[in-house]
Amino acid sequence: MIDGIIKYNLAYKKSAPLRENRFLGIEAVRKRLVALGFIGVYTNGVGYGNISQRARGDAFVITGTQTGHLKNLDANHYALIEEFNDKRFYLRSSGAIKPSSEALTHGTIYNLSSQINAVIHIHSKGIWNYMLQSGFLKTGIVEYGTVEMIDEVNRIYKDRNPLSNPKFVMSGHSEGVMFFGKDLEEVERTLLEVVGLFVERPSNPN
Ligand SMILES: [Zn+2]
Repeated sequence: MIDGIIKYNLAYKKSAPLRENRFLGIEAVRKRLVALGFIGVYTNGVGYGNISQRARGDAFVITGTQTGHLKNLDANHYALIEEFNDKRFYLRSSGAIKPSSEALTHGTIYNLSSQINAVIHIHSKGIWNYMLQSGFLKTGIVEYGTVEMIDEVNRIYKDRNPLSNPKFVMSGHSEGVMFFGKDLEEVERTLLEVVGLFVERPSNPN
């Protein structure tokens, strides 16, 4: 399986780089997550981790594809999702770069509730294993960026207020975890709460 490849149908119109006010909030959070290794690049060169923030309506700003190796991003590295339809596996974007290959999964999360305004996707072997083994919400074993992933996100939250449990682990996407919430600060807090539980876990249950 090749990671980092965009699988959804993308209508991309290259445009001027995004204005700073569209991404400075994301960038501040991203810096901290890069420092913690939750966003970065594998030794094979594939980047991981992405952050998005709702702009207005269904539009949202997300980090560009394959930017994980960069410590700091600027206007050239952010994409604006102008429109998406996860039932049609379709996404339209502008900006100086194509969006993250996981952008449509972010879209599905925004579709869960108009109160959701930010999404963070990290990779962490430790957190991923911990969440899989500790009863957190999880997808079935499906790959990132697929129709099956969209179905799994909708299944998880079918009979559940998404904001009551705004995090899940992606069983079929090695090391991948999703967090979301009303704003970026809240999402980062939720993430750090899980990190805290992970750090405090009994290191040797036996
Ligand atoms: Zn991922």
